[in-house]
Amino acid sequence: MNTLSDSATRPRLPEGRNFIAGEWRDESGAERITVTDPASETVLGDIPCSSAATVDKAVRAARKAFNDPAWSNLAPMEREALLHRLAALVEQHADDLATIESLDNGKPIAFSSTLDVPLSAQWLHYFAGWPSKLSGRSMHPAVQPTGSHHAYTLRQPVGVVGAIVPWNFPLVLAIWKLAPALAAGNTVVIKPAEQTPYSLLKLAELIEAAGFPPGVVNVVLGDGRTTGQAIVDHPGVDKISFTGSTAVGKHLLTSAANDLKRVTLELGGKSPTVILPDADLETAIPGAAQAVFVNSGQICFAGTRLFAPRKHFDRILEGVAEAAKSFPVGAGLDPNSMLGPVVSQQQMDSILGKVEAGVKAGASTFCGGGRLDREGYFLEPTILVTDDAQNPAYREEIFGPVLTATRYDELDDIIAMANDSEYGLSANLYTSHFGLAHRLAAQLQAGTVWINTQLSPDPHIPFGGFKQSGWGRENGEDVFAHYTETKSVIASLA
Ligand code: NAP
Ligand code: MG
Repeated sequence: MNTLSDSATRPRLPEGRNFIAGEWRDESGAERITVTDPASETVLGDIPCSSAATVDKAVRAARKAFNDPAWSNLAPMEREALLHRLAALVEQHADDLATIESLDNGKPIAFSSTLDVPLSAQWLHYFAGWPSKLSGRSMHPAVQPTGSHHAYTLRQPVGVVGAIVPWNFPLVLAIWKLAPALAAGNTVVIKPAEQTPYSLLKLAELIEAAGFPPGVVNVVLGDGRTTGQAIVDHPGVDKISFTGSTAVGKHLLTSAANDLKRVTLELGGKSPTVILPDADLETAIPGAAQAVFVNSGQICFAGTRLFAPRKHFDRILEGVAEAAKSFPVGAGLDPNSMLGPVVSQQQMDSILGKVEAGVKAGASTFCGGGRLDREGYFLEPTILVTDDAQNPAYREEIFGPVLTATRYDELDDIIAMANDSEYGLSANLYTSHFGLAHRLAAQLQAGTVWINTQLSPDPHIPFGGFKQSGWGRENGEDVFAHYTETKSVIASLA
């Protein structure tokens, strides 16, 4: 059964229109960007490449909504009710959202229906709990006579948030920004990646249905260079929340420096999976395979550098390769698929180029290394073996189903090897030694360390990167440091 070519079974894809000030608007005269289904290489539709003038309309709408008492004076518990309502609508429309996500991005429906969409609803429910809990503190000035002054802090929304998201988890990552931004009382202008606009457009329909005031959330479609850049450059945007590549993240900082916008960055990674000699290999081997091959490796925190003890190296590699081969390959909408295509021709070419560069620099191919012989942007799960920490496949983020594997002899070397990266998003550790696991966790330069487990971000647990993996943290209470300003108020009691 190939449901992909059967358009009768597809849900209606939202039209490629902007959602600004509560209205769906065509962008007449704009260049159109084609959106493709990566499994069949066929066209799904097109979206406008919105101009700076359109971004300006969206920012003005967001500012107007931010200043409007219909939003700014809403009781915190009413903001909570709106977010819960949106979460319930996501649950009601779960099948459509999962199908749209799999069609657009290529990710297996087995994942979009059990991970992307349920996680999106959970994130909304979780952040719906926060508006009534966010508050300032009461305090006494330290150097004034006791009783002479009263001081307190207010936690106020930052204002208009410009959110820019990538294509690998289009719905989840949009909600990672929208949910806390709205919980804190901000308004938002958000741009999806040009490759995967549809789940966010569907979400905008649900935002409208949930009853958020017009202009609180605005969706502008377009590419990064034109539309994304216009958001970052706009003086009416108070804060940029960006998830994407480290290269673009660095570039955005230079633009945001003009008016010192607040900036949070969730960027790339080259995360280690470290298997210690005493690890339970029944857990570690499938864990290491999942860490890099799920979502065809297009996960920022994918465990892409495997470190295995020399004495177990061959067994571990054979096990990881076997686990990878056992994932049924198929289009996103194929219910049996566990390994979909990568998102685009461009991404596929980039991955293959990086594999080739790694091999040319001396890495040996343990398995995979090429494209699968079928239509669509399907790649073989690939393992490259290298002991050279300067090999480009070992150093650079590939963002595809590609693992480098490296042997180690001494436990004492492992922290230095794992930390030898410009990135520091996450690390995976497999061991049976409880105390050692926690000692090593403290030494790993990573925003998240998983011990004997993988792939479990949680709305209550901060997520973000050390080093060039980013600035700031998403999720949990920590995220509100980035979506609020603290104001100190000091009054004389004389
Ligand atoms: P990307 O090229 O940096 O794009 C990310 C987003 O930024 C897209 O919406 C893109 O628009 C936009 N953009 C590009 N240039 C821009 C500019 N000059 N001004 C404003 N916006 C601009 O990243 P990608 O290749 O699509 O996504 C993969 C990368 O994201 C990987 O490096 C991955 O590690 C990272 N990522 C990080 C996390 C995390 O949480 N740390 C999560 C997921 C992904 P268009 O694509 O429409 O041009
Ligand atoms: Mg697509």
